[in-house]
Amino acid sequence: NIAVFYKVDIVVIGAGQAGLSAAYYLKKAGLVSGKGFVVLDDEFGAGGAWQHRWDSLTLQNVNGINDLPGMSFSDTVDITDKELQANVALPKYYEQYERAFNLPIIRPVKVNRVTERNGRFLVHTNGTQFNARGIINATGTWKTPYCPKYPGWELFKGLQLHTGDYKTAEEFAGKRVVIVGGGISAVQLLGEISKVAKTTWVTRRPPDFRNYKFSPELGREAVAMVDQRVREGLPPNSVVSVTGLPITPAIQWMLDRGVLERKPMFKEFTETGVRWEDGTTLDADIVFWNTGFRHSLGHLIPLQLMNEEGGITMSGQLATQVADDHRIHLTGYGPSASTIGANRAGRAAARELMDYLGL
Ligand code: FAD
Repeated sequence: NIAVFYKVDIVVIGAGQAGLSAAYYLKKAGLVSGKGFVVLDDEFGAGGAWQHRWDSLTLQNVNGINDLPGMSFSDTVDITDKELQANVALPKYYEQYERAFNLPIIRPVKVNRVTERNGRFLVHTNGTQFNARGIINATGTWKTPYCPKYPGWELFKGLQLHTGDYKTAEEFAGKRVVIVGGGISAVQLLGEISKVAKTTWVTRRPPDFRNYKFSPELGREAVAMVDQRVREGLPPNSVVSVTGLPITPAIQWMLDRGVLERKPMFKEFTETGVRWEDGTTLDADIVFWNTGFRHSLGHLIPLQLMNEEGGITMSGQLATQVADDHRIHLTGYGPSASTIGANRAGRAAARELMDYLGL
């Protein structure tokens, strides 16, 4: 069997906010759909990772959704309806967006790996194969949940879940739950689960609650820090390390109820729960890891972009360009891992890559 690889100039991998933004700007700059570029996405429908977010994540408690270029979120859904679920609103927005701009999205197509031959990229998929001059990778993080392995994890007879598995608090009702993690998801889900279950919150470091409202300046500061890290080839790290956790009314309510009394990270698992350094044990039915996600880049391993520290040295206007190979851009990576960052990254990546390839 000889695989046929269809020749295109650019393959965009992933159709979330970052991939759609890149596709919009490629098309706007005159690249022809199909021959010039395609967008491959492994989902059945529009919405990127948003289609998998839990039902209680509504427009009320998302951090804020930035418009995609050329069409506003508020044109497609009633954004004053704060009860609207993000997993309904965003997929609806993206679907209308894809149609309005007639973007060449092919789905479901999973990219298994990207290799190089004769100065071009071979994009190996579970569907049509492509041969491209440049790659814009926009695969997000949702498909790569991160769970640190603590000693004895295989002994534990209870259930271990990750943020990505969360559907509703009802699934935890009446259970003894250890919630791990100091980020926004951990705190939000702790708030929900603590209403129906007996929760214990553990974090590696004391949580950094701060009495302020999230501001654009603080956002810029966090982005600048991650931007600098990736330009130095370090792995991007969490924004919470810069911004802390702002005390929202929901968090104040939890603080008042004692839900946010935190214990240090446990040392190991037992068959029935967890054990701390000082020998104290706690029985648990569920250990719920809210320990984040990593960028989904496994399909790029053959290109050997990553250094020993797990970072990729980035360059370009918004640090989307792989410093060692300007034919590859990563959008939604590092400093652009937000809806606003993904938008800007899409524009920078499309422009820089087209310039570099002389398109
Ligand atoms: P995604 O939306 O994940 O899109 C990537 C796409 O690529 C997906 O469709 C995926 O299935 C596909 N894909 C992955 N691997 C492959 C492959 N090998 N082959 C083919 N396709 C592939 N940001 C905000 O700005 N505001 C918020 O309120 C906010 N809330 C968040 C809440 C949670 C719980 C989380 C986890 C993140 C939140 N973020 C928020 C960050 C958010 O994830 C980004 O802002 C943005 O939506 C990510 O867009 P993306 O295009 O990079 O990734």
